[in-house]
Amino acid sequence: MRRCEACCSSLSLPAAAERRGALLRHPLVAVCGWLLVDAGRRHTLENKRDMGARVVDRGEIRGELEAFRASVRRFVGREIAPYTAQWEREGIVPLSVWRALGKAGFLCVDVPETDGGAGADVRFSVVVLEELARANAGGLCTGVMVHSDIVAPYLVHHGSQQQRRQWLPRLISGEVVGAIAMTEPSAGSDLKALCTRARALPSGYLINGQKTFITNGQNAGLVVTATKTDPEAGARGVSLFLVDAALPGYRRGRNLDKVGQHMADTSELFFEDVSVGHDALLGTEGEGFGILMSELPRERAMIAVFAQAAAEAAFEWTVAHVRQRQAFGTTLSALQNTRFQLAQLATELDVGRTFIDHCVDELAAGQLDATRAAKAKLYLTELQGRACELGVQLHGGYGYMAEYPIARAWADARVQRIYGGANEVMLELVARSFLGRADQP
Ligand SMILES: Cc1cc2nc3c(=O)[nH]c(=O)nc-3n(C[C@H](O)[C@H](O)[C@H](O)COP(=O)(O)OP(=O)(O)OC[C@H]3O[C@@H](n4cnc5c(N)ncnc54)[C@H](O)[C@@H]3O)c2cc1C
Repeated sequence: MRRCEACCSSLSLPAAAERRGALLRHPLVAVCGWLLVDAGRRHTLENKRDMGARVVDRGEIRGELEAFRASVRRFVGREIAPYTAQWEREGIVPLSVWRALGKAGFLCVDVPETDGGAGADVRFSVVVLEELARANAGGLCTGVMVHSDIVAPYLVHHGSQQQRRQWLPRLISGEVVGAIAMTEPSAGSDLKALCTRARALPSGYLINGQKTFITNGQNAGLVVTATKTDPEAGARGVSLFLVDAALPGYRRGRNLDKVGQHMADTSELFFEDVSVGHDALLGTEGEGFGILMSELPRERAMIAVFAQAAAEAAFEWTVAHVRQRQAFGTTLSALQNTRFQLAQLATELDVGRTFIDHCVDELAAGQLDATRAAKAKLYLTELQGRACELGVQLHGGYGYMAEYPIARAWADARVQRIYGGANEVMLELVARSFLGRADQP
């Protein structure tokens, strides 16, 4: 057993790491990273547990996860929660907040050390989303999910060394915000129908097209952009490009006025003769659809993580409300309808918690398949919808007032059943897993 010099946590190092004796950073860098940053000193322990080297049982890192959660919760309480109402009005979270998140060590926490990251277990990234959801910062939760759990993994798994070196350190620090641009005005669920064109030139590619509903659209400095390099080739004609938002011809459109998640800068984007080099192509030409599919389990699991945490928060606010709200000479909590409806929800939340924790453990072990991820996205976003709907109802008129957390949570929840693949698409994916495709019975 060793102790971290900065946070005094005990570390139990696997024998292999002990033997290796290499100069490595602390395995709890994600736990105490912000303390280290605050202290302005670099962490250099003699040994480090290499979290990526083997599947880590949740029990082994439970203490680390709890300590990390406490750090994130303190940060969110101090730097996020007091400002959410303001950001909701402004329709955007300032870039300075992204930098503060990066400085605290809360962005892209599982990027390997070889790429400049903390190399933490993906479950630390889960904790960041859960704490943002719990604080009712739904729009920022979605933004951080796109940045840390979609864009960064694309680079880690499919980027060249030069691409990883160019972008990952700046994503980790929050200096650059990431976005993923797939959806177009006439192509959402049916991604193969996208029209944005990347024409090959001797020097690289020329991109023309339009995207819509893009999370982080105003703040993004890096936009992973889905294009057609071969319009005749269907899914095999889709290619992804790492588009630098500073390039000529790239233009941000409107920051869209939404029903909920107001602090998320969900935007239109325009590409007018945007010239990129060959080095901006992610993976190989025509590989884009496969790359998108390969990263979907994580994206959908993370939407489910957000959903479960938000549903639990909605339940807690509602329980607190019905306990104190007087009606008919008693409290709402004494009415049988209130008791039964909340008991039903509490039971479903327990089922949801067990399922999502299991899915996240599978994700950490690299074993979460697309069907299970689709089930998680489907079940938990529907549960989130039910939890928020019941919460609004039991809050009465107060539940319809935007100043009440439950009202915001209700509005924020609705899109969870639409983005990341509409829930009907999830149903089709689940059905395919045991019935096959409808067009190939
Ligand atoms: C707030 C917000 C943030 C978003 N962020 C991003 C982002 O960062 N990047 C990005 O690329 N996109 C993003 N999107 C777009 C989102 O992923 C799409 O809206 C979603 O995939 C649905 O596509 P669509 O809107 O074109 O709806 P359509 O494809 O027109 O579908 C409409 C409805 O038809 C039904 N339907 C669709 N397909 C099927 C099917 N196969 N079987 C049965 N029913 C079906 C569903 O009810 C669906 O909701 C975001 C959207 C919102 C609202």
